[in-house]
Amino acid sequence: MSYLKQTDGAVYELLQKELEYQQKTLRLIASENYASRAVMEATGSVLTNKYAEGYPKKRYYAGNQYVDEIEILAIERAKKLFGAGHANVQPHAGASANIAAFYAFLEIGDKFMGLDLANGGHLTHGSPVNFSGKWFRPCAYTVDRKTEALDYNQIRKRALEEKPKLIICGYTAYPLIIDFKAFREICDEVGAIMMADISHFAGLVAGGAYPSPAKYADIITTTTHKTLRGPRGAMIMCPEANAQKIDKAVFPGMQGGPLEHCIAAKAVCFHEALQPEFKAYAAQIVKNAKVLADELAAHGLRLVAGKTETHLILVDLTPKGITGKEAQLALEEAGIISNRNAIPYDPRPPFVTSGLRLGTPALTTRGMKEGEMKHIGQLIVKVIENPNDSELKLRVRKETEELCSRFPIYK
Ligand SMILES: *Cc1c(COP(=O)(O)O)cnc(C)c1O
Repeated sequence: MSYLKQTDGAVYELLQKELEYQQKTLRLIASENYASRAVMEATGSVLTNKYAEGYPKKRYYAGNQYVDEIEILAIERAKKLFGAGHANVQPHAGASANIAAFYAFLEIGDKFMGLDLANGGHLTHGSPVNFSGKWFRPCAYTVDRKTEALDYNQIRKRALEEKPKLIICGYTAYPLIIDFKAFREICDEVGAIMMADISHFAGLVAGGAYPSPAKYADIITTTTHKTLRGPRGAMIMCPEANAQKIDKAVFPGMQGGPLEHCIAAKAVCFHEALQPEFKAYAAQIVKNAKVLADELAAHGLRLVAGKTETHLILVDLTPKGITGKEAQLALEEAGIISNRNAIPYDPRPPFVTSGLRLGTPALTTRGMKEGEMKHIGQLIVKVIENPNDSELKLRVRKETEELCSRFPIYK
């Protein structure tokens, strides 16, 4: 970054500090990852100079011959990676992809069903503070109070009562695998559109560690920067029959000029995800999550839904007498970065919570395996059991830094 260093020392310095911070801390945020240098090079490329409103070969601006080739490459790779009939790679973010999907299939005021935010759903799935809850009529489904898993009979009953026009599956804080076929059957029975938001686990789907909804869903939305390990951004996939509706909703419906530098980086990300190594990566993410979950459970933490089948663990801290907020803060001081999260039917307010969400995609990218996960599990437990012990937190911090130094994020 020699040019940046010369031009803007302030931003350069802060970026150096951030790099060092990312290197020295254990990142257990389930939605984060480390994009490759190749992805970052494409993101930082000359395509940031281009306007390309429209789609390949149908642009409203001149001079897009190479931009077209790049976007076509991204589309073709996305379709291959997920077995989708059509892909729109222009959405700027997961939230924008969901807005576009709603715009394509719903009218203002239409009723739709999504998982309750407090049960693991996303803001854009009907939260009252989000467009989805303000402009549409959400009727949430929940996880079962006892098993903390989706109960497809309950969801079916609720769908039959409510008759939503669209049903969303795919969440932000749900540790189990979704039965997409069951959702298809429910949607067929009530005549609803099936939308799968695979933002969190798209990388697992791409790597064959999680079933694909491509056979079942009418719309698939996903971010590209979570388990998929690409640039910040998103895309929408659908059967060929819905292609026009989706494309029109993204542009000119919701967005102006696409971020072609991000689209180039998405193409690179899809190429990486198509390699055999990515399969091994996806499998290792899940293995790591299972080992970490077992270690935490062995030390008396309660796993929401009893286990994990994905990259993500939701722990109930109640047995340790500490809140999510306190645990997140104490762990941060020890160099372990996580986020507090509501557990299903959480008695505490969302700003405090009883839970902690942990994920293994970023640490797995660093090359950490089962042995490191066990070790990290023990460190987490130590901190959670002694959140006010400054000396202990300092000791754990030294240990996390030592561990991090053996697994550099960028070699
Ligand atoms: C992360 C996420 C989104 C939103 O993605 P942004 O890029 O942050 O807008 C949408 N849906 C689900 C299920 C997510 O996990």
